[in-house]
Amino acid sequence: MRGIIITVGDELLIGQVVNTNASFIAEKLTAAGVEVCRILTVPDNESEIVKAFEEALPNYDLSIVTGGLGPTHDDVTKKAVCRFFGVDLVPSPEVRRTIEEFLLQRRLPWSQAAEEQTLVPSGAVIIPNRRGTAPGELLERDRRHLVVLPGVPHEMEGMMEEFVLPFVKKNSSGQVILNRTLKTTGISESALAERIGPIDQLLARGERLAFLPSASGVRMRITVTKSDRTAAEERIGGIESVIRARVGKYIYGAGEEELEQVVGAILRERGVRIAVAESCTGGLIADKITNVPGSSDYFERGVVAYSNASKIDILHVPSRLINQHGAVSQEVAEAMATGIRSVSGADIGLSTTGIAGPAGGSEEKPVGLVWIGYSDVTRSAAARFHFGRERLIIKQRAAQAALEMVRRSLLKIK
Ligand code: ATP
Ligand code: MG
Repeated sequence: MRGIIITVGDELLIGQVVNTNASFIAEKLTAAGVEVCRILTVPDNESEIVKAFEEALPNYDLSIVTGGLGPTHDDVTKKAVCRFFGVDLVPSPEVRRTIEEFLLQRRLPWSQAAEEQTLVPSGAVIIPNRRGTAPGELLERDRRHLVVLPGVPHEMEGMMEEFVLPFVKKNSSGQVILNRTLKTTGISESALAERIGPIDQLLARGERLAFLPSASGVRMRITVTKSDRTAAEERIGGIESVIRARVGKYIYGAGEEELEQVVGAILRERGVRIAVAESCTGGLIADKITNVPGSSDYFERGVVAYSNASKIDILHVPSRLINQHGAVSQEVAEAMATGIRSVSGADIGLSTTGIAGPAGGSEEKPVGLVWIGYSDVTRSAAARFHFGRERLIIKQRAAQAALEMVRRSLLKIK
């Protein structure tokens, strides 16, 4: 089944409202086995909506429209539906009853707006709206379906779950589209692609591998389509193993898993406690670690040691090292890591020191230079990174790289 999503609203086109309805519907349809081929956004304008229908209905099995279904003058989707199908708006006793009940339950009076909502395009199947007053509609032409839903996200979501997805399941060919996301960090998109090798040797027709970079790393999303779930699971597992064999050491998790959860789980399992001393990341590592419920089991403390004095006072970094090498140096990063470890008594000490910019860079130590220090009972070390020129991205990438250093160290990944 091939689908198109049409979102209606001036607010979407001027950038005032983020089009979350489109992503919600796309995600749900994809999971239900519909191939979403296009997302179209049009203004609150009858002719534009009709034009969208003219493109959608002949070309896709399922068209889903949201927005502009309300009772106010700028809501014209119903009119466009009538014009496209050549039908009139007719009062629906069924809708009237539902709205009456809805208003009664909330102790709200009947209104002109409610009256307006009882009108639906003649011949449409009504999709009940339990969370609001605007009913949805299902129409058909030449075995192609049009589903019309309100724009209010909460209402649209309810109707998708209760009506549209069951409808799709009943009507679909039983094809299963499966996605799996593998999350990497510490490697660029192009380096990943190069190591994975020629894509046509990895994937068959209709299968896809997408690279999605962000400040925390590159996500890889595998997509396969099969006639049943077992076959799809098997195929996606096969592709995943090939990818893991080639770039496995960069993959820290799958799906929605965050690096701090992965690291936290390892720390807990090993019964190892960590303490962090942060300069340029300003507490971001501690923030991430403590976002995970139960992190008190393994997180001993976090210190933001921003000034030289604090590095000396709190972490006992020898002032000689700072004078000789500067605060952003291998020596100081390492001394911060060993310092926080011994001060706290934790098993692992982790540190960051760097130049987040925009000022303060030099030829020798440019903006984006970050040293990350690591210390445990067996060894102390520091590694150098260059994280670009944007302050907040430098912080994000440094925090992620620091956590990754812990993961690799614990799992002995070289
Ligand atoms: P109502 O019955 O409430 O009038 P409607 O179908 O007319 O619903 P709209 O008036 O278009 O819907 O939008 C209602 C609300 O939903 C607005 O606050 C709008 O910003 C939000 N909304 C509409 N479309 C989207 C979308 N695609 N993504 C996210 N929010 C949306
Ligand atoms: Mg609108």
